[in-house]
Formats: sequence, structure tokens, C-alpha cells
Amino acid sequence: MSLLEVRDLRLVYPNGHEALKRVSFSAEEGEIVAIIGRSGAGKSTLLRCINGLEKVTEGSIILDGKDITKMSQRELAAERRRIGFVWQEYNLVDRLPALTNVLTGRLGYKSTLAGALGIFDRRERELAVHNLERLNLLHRATQRADKLSGGEKQRVSIARAMTQQPKILLADEPVASLDPELSVQVLSDLARVAREDGVLTLINIHQVELARQFADRIIGLAQGVIVFDGKPEQMTEAVMDRVYRFDKVQA
Ligand code: ADP
Repeated sequence: MSLLEVRDLRLVYPNGHEALKRVSFSAEEGEIVAIIGRSGAGKSTLLRCINGLEKVTEGSIILDGKDITKMSQRELAAERRRIGFVWQEYNLVDRLPALTNVLTGRLGYKSTLAGALGIFDRRERELAVHNLERLNLLHRATQRADKLSGGEKQRVSIARAMTQQPKILLADEPVASLDPELSVQVLSDLARVAREDGVLTLINIHQVELARQFADRIIGLAQGVIVFDGKPEQMTEAVMDRVYRFDKVQA
């Protein structure tokens, strides 16, 4: 069985909009998968389903042998420790130093009290320092998050996600707020640390060129349907048409 198996996933929002229509794919440990598609294609919805943030309408999401869609809130909270998430807008705690932000990646493993008191053991601190270091940010460890640049903030958020020691890393448009040059650097850092740790990584991204550059595999979504699933070198013009001009093709 694959590390992640998404089967016949369907999600209808309460307003009746069907954002995902029978989406199925599986992915293995260590794979870096880019999910591309137009705005509104369902990319973000898909990641939120895998993270257990959306209640799916039909289908299953089996991560490491366990079905996310069947879990109680409590089971889900425990499972989310092992699901790293990187958002477009970083979601750091502004007034805390970079290193403390990275350590919050361990909070899911602690009692509320230990977490509130900021009690982290030596191994956890070493892990956080190690992750800041491999994202070339050790020199910023004591800097408040709100004093960091956009690229630095996103690297702190990647370090935080890796400090969770996740089974899977989900990144939703991680470089959409960064300029093109920084986008390349940050995605390259993200892909490098994910590869070093062999973590399955799904990255929603709208820049196809970046997807080609950093992913092992590309999944193209259009109107809630997978219209391409293959290697970057298999992304032909015809495939791009299918992914980005779905409406016209259908018409
Ligand atoms: P993407 O990430 O590819 O831009 P999304 O997953 O955000 O796409 O959205 C997919 C579709 O679902 C869009 O048409 C969007 O407007 C719709 N949608 C997203 N969230 C909601 C919601 N909470 N309620 C209703 N429709 C939603």
C-alpha cells in the first residue's frame, strides 16, 4: 500500500459547489508532487481534505494505512502532528523569535501545559536548530518573526514543518507572495529538505515552470478533476491545454 491513497474523493461545499469530483491518486514516501491548475481548480480544497480540515462528501484518504475521513476530531488532532503544512502567508507568531516559531512544530506532541510553558527537551531544541541551519537561517534564530523578510519567514515556516518530523508535507502556494527569484530559492530549499528527510510532499503551485523544475511528478487539476498525472517531461502543450483551458476544451 502507498503512503497516501486518495480514492474517489468528492467534495461538495455547503453552497452546492462540487469542488472535487472523484479524485483518485496515490503517492509514495519521498515523492515531491506539484499540483497545478487554474485558480478555482480545487488545489487548495484537496490539501485541506488531506489535512482533515474539510469534511469530504464521498471517498477516502488513506495516510499510512489510516483513513483520515473516518477519524474523530481527537484522532485527527493526533494525526495532524505528522502532517506538516506550509501556507502562502507563513502563519508565524510575529512576536516570537524564529527559533521559537520552529519549536512550535513540536507542540502537537506536548501536553497543553508543557506547550504553554514552552518546555521543549534537548532533542527537540537540537532538531529545531538543525532545521533552521539547513534552511540557512541560524543567524536569524533570535530575531522576531515580524522582523524577517518574506523569504526568511517562509523558510522558518518550512523549518517548523520539518521539525514536526512529518509523514507528509503539504504546501499551499508556498511562494505566491514572493518575487520570482526568491520563489526559486525557497522552493529549492523546500524540495531539498523534503528530499533529505524522504518526506512525501504535495505542493500547490500555479507557476508551471517552478513545478517542472522541482517536482518529480505533476498532477494537473481542472474543475475538480485530475486531467494529468505524470512526470514533468511529459507535460506537453496538449497537456497544458487540458489543464489550463479546460472550459474551452469542454465547450
Ligand atoms: P484552487 O486552490 O485551485 O484555487 P480552491 O480549492 O480554493 O481552488 O477552490 C475550488 C472551488 O471551490 C472554487 O470554485 C472556489 O470558489 C470554491 N470554494 C472554495 N472554498 C469554498 C467554500 N468554503 N464554499 C464554497 N465554495 C468554495
